[in-house]
Formats: sequence, C-alpha cells, structure tokens
Amino acid sequence: MVEMKFICDRMLGKLAVWLRISGYDTLYVGDFKIEDEDEFLLKNFEDRILLTKDRRLFEKAKKIGREVFLVRSNDIAEQMKELKSIGVKFQIVMDRCSVCNSLLRIPSKEEALEVLKEQGLPADMLERYELWFCEKCKKLYWMGSHWINMVRFLKKIED
Ligand SMILES: [Zn+2]
Repeated sequence: MVEMKFICDRMLGKLAVWLRISGYDTLYVGDFKIEDEDEFLLKNFEDRILLTKDRRLFEKAKKIGREVFLVRSNDIAEQMKELKSIGVKFQIVMDRCSVCNSLLRIPSKEEALEVLKEQGLPADMLERYELWFCEKCKKLYWMGSHWINMVRFLKKIED
C-alpha cells in the first residue's frame, strides 16, 4: 500500500501538525508565501490528498478529479476522528519535524549540545533522553512532558 500524502488548507494547521507527528508527509498551505491559496492548492501537488474545510474548494477539486477530503468539524479531536475514517492512523512516530515536515534524524553529540546550549537547555538532556533532530529548523525533539500530553490526547480520541 502506498502511504498517503497530504496538503492541508489554511484552516487545518493543527491537523497538519498531527499528521506530521504521525509520520505522514504533509504540507501546509500557510507555509507557502502565496496570494491565491485556493488556486495554488488546485494546481499543485496533485499526488497529495487535499484536506480542506472549505466546501467550495472541495467541490472545485472534485470537479477536476483531485483526491480531496472535506473536513467538517472545527475541533481537532473530531477532525482526527474524521481522518481515521479514511484510514489515517494517528500515533507518535519521531519521524518528521512537526514544524517543517522534514525527516528527523539522530543528532551527533556536537549538534545536540549546540542546540541545547542555544536554547538554554541542560546539557545532561543528552544522557537523559533519546533525541531527534531537524536539520532545517535546528530543533531537537525528545520524549518529555509535551510527549506525555500528546499520548494522553491520543488516548482520548481512541474510544
Ligand atoms: Zn523542521
């Protein structure tokens, strides 16, 4: 099975983040500096499923044969449940940067120390946590309290 890839409209930034956390290759239109986002979404990234909250955009996309899914709820938990209906599996896979969609990798000791120092974080985090690194954002990820909150949230949407 080919893994699903997505592009999200302006209204679905949070959903884009959760898709990235779950390992899906996901673009967010707000990351592109463009004027006519609808036009852009209709004409680009045809290999991706378009996720939109805009019924008019949804209809237009359908008409030109794009793979598109209309998200109905305004609530992130409900939106995630909607996507589960098309086979999306939400989970925490430290695979993609939730900010920029780049693939993460294990940092070298030097890289990790540099970022920790820059962000005023204790150097011993290197020993205490498994770290992942986004080269583009110079951002580190680890299983801290944020992680625990995310796990709790995922439990909530499971029911
Ligand atoms: Zn990044």
